[in-house]
Amino acid sequence: MPSKDLYPDLDTLKARYRRWQHYNIRIFDMLSDVTIVSPHGGFIEAGTSHIAQLVAGRNYNFFDFQGLLKTRPLDLHITSVNFREPLLAEVLGRSRLAVSIHCMGKEAPGEIWVGGLNKKLRDCMAKALREKGFTVRTDLPRYKGVHPRNFVNMPVEHGVQLEIAGDVVDSFFSTPAKFAREVDFAPEATPVLHNFVAACRKALCQCS
Ligand SMILES: [Zn+2]
Repeated sequence: MPSKDLYPDLDTLKARYRRWQHYNIRIFDMLSDVTIVSPHGGFIEAGTSHIAQLVAGRNYNFFDFQGLLKTRPLDLHITSVNFREPLLAEVLGRSRLAVSIHCMGKEAPGEIWVGGLNKKLRDCMAKALREKGFTVRTDLPRYKGVHPRNFVNMPVEHGVQLEIAGDVVDSFFSTPAKFAREVDFAPEATPVLHNFVAACRKALCQCS
């Protein structure tokens, strides 16, 4: 989300911070050829860890980078084009496609932006989300997710990047404490989140 990251890459960040204390990495390898990623999870783009985990379910691989800093959480944001992690690279290397889940904060209230280089899955996901009542854009002014060095496009069939507005993420959870979601306790999902997850999984099932 920030235009300028504090650190150029994850290696620099890892040299400065400690795993478990400042950041965490979770990977659930289901030996699937589809990988769901929340690269800005934890407190960085709050809510995305939990959303991505639900989209992954029990059948798709799940990679989650969690920032654990409650103050200045965006210090741990590494933009997708620079986001390189050995465990993620390994699982993307044997994936056919990937989906990344982001929150775009105050940008485009009420909207979900669907980008990425896999146009078939992108359009299919946009259609499934619209059918569930979400306001979706695929003609994106920013956050297009089409850069070939964006990690989401590394699988052979590339991927889809979902950017969810902050107020839409808020509607996904009934838990009021915004910055205490997936790290401190299990968040309480609303029917809106279940609709979002169902739409994403339907598109993955039918169009991937
Ligand atoms: Zn992000």
